[in-house]
Amino acid sequence: MAGNRQPEVNIGLVGHVDHGKTTLVQALSGSWTDQHSEEMKRGISIRLGYADATFRECPELDEPEKYTVEEECSDGSESEPLRTVSFVDAPGHETLMATMLSGASLMDGAVLVVSANAPVPQPQTEEHLMALDIIGIDNIVIAQNKVDLVSADQARQNYEEIQEFVAGTVAEDAPVVPVSAGQEVNLDLLIAAIEEEIPTPERDPDADPRMHVARSFDINKPGTTAADLTGGVLGGSLVAGELEVGDEIEIRPGREVEEGGQTEYVPIQTTIRSLQAGGENADTVTPGGLLGVGTALDPSLTKGDALAGRIAGPPGSLPPTWQSFTMDVDLLERVVGDEGGEIDEISTGEPLMMTVGTATTVGAVTSAREGECEVSLKRPVSAEPGAKIAINRRIGARWRLIGLGTLQD
Ligand code: GDP
Ligand code: MG
Repeated sequence: MAGNRQPEVNIGLVGHVDHGKTTLVQALSGSWTDQHSEEMKRGISIRLGYADATFRECPELDEPEKYTVEEECSDGSESEPLRTVSFVDAPGHETLMATMLSGASLMDGAVLVVSANAPVPQPQTEEHLMALDIIGIDNIVIAQNKVDLVSADQARQNYEEIQEFVAGTVAEDAPVVPVSAGQEVNLDLLIAAIEEEIPTPERDPDADPRMHVARSFDINKPGTTAADLTGGVLGGSLVAGELEVGDEIEIRPGREVEEGGQTEYVPIQTTIRSLQAGGENADTVTPGGLLGVGTALDPSLTKGDALAGRIAGPPGSLPPTWQSFTMDVDLLERVVGDEGGEIDEISTGEPLMMTVGTATTVGAVTSAREGECEVSLKRPVSAEPGAKIAINRRIGARWRLIGLGTLQD
């Protein structure tokens, strides 16, 4: 049972660059993503930064010492697996908030990493917490990292700053766990806090399966003959239901078709030929972690992320495709982070970048009123009315998060 269990919950790692997110995931998962040699798995993992960790328990030991990721306990006995979690490591250096938000739409909870040796908050600490706030992720554990670098007094001071900073936010009641990811100190306390605060959500196995496609591939080596071609591969996460090898699936909005100078999107149907979860082949998969879906599609259709941002599920069950939509708009009070200016109302004609699920699309505002606006999209998206939309506006050289939209029907 060594870590081959399918992950059952997705936990985002967020926080400022260099505060130790990647180091923490490495400490908890032991082997980061390289243990999975398959090209497909690696490709998805690196881009989205997924890594699985199996939390284990030493039945003979007390709380919190009994929690570990090692197979051998400190008393020499053997540990028992509790559950496998999948960490989504938000790329801190990547200023494109959409990457984090599209990952966040798949997060069941988050660990906010805050370095003990820097003033609180650093720009991305604030920005990421704001994102969790607006997406409504409230299962949060705060890891006060790098405590090996500060004195007890400094650690206490920093702890106070963290408490002050999260007051009134979605992380107000989140436990703050002092750790050293680098020195592997207090990881048991952190696991205990995650077990308590970020439970595996209850899933309905009979719900219509719904997969968010984050990547797509052609895994064939150049020059493979037609007879030997492996079908197109989709990478992403299942958010509801179960998928099984042999299932028929539909993919929306589908593929781009040019006709008479017009671009159209046509839904795709195919059959699932293989499934991978937690780096292992599987006959059926349930929500949690990264999923690889081998299909019967012509691999040229899936090459180079051509189907990224789509959703997949049983034919006929998928939500509508929108070329333009109206959304309710809740603007933030001000731009978070370094520049921190006020946010003006959205105006007719302005371009916006929107993230819906794993889809990121640019649109132009065709009509703006207070509290809502209508946008015309460059590329359509498929989404359920009520879906949350991260709204970004170009400020200076980058897209900045300015608010949250809700898709109207
Ligand atoms: P990320 O940008 O948040 O993913 O941060 P990294 O995990 O890449 O860590 C940034 C730097 O901090 C690296 O040089 C790490 O070795 C170092 N670091 C991370 N955690 C600790 C810690 O607990 N103690 C110390 N002393 N250094 C750490
Ligand atoms: Mg990192």
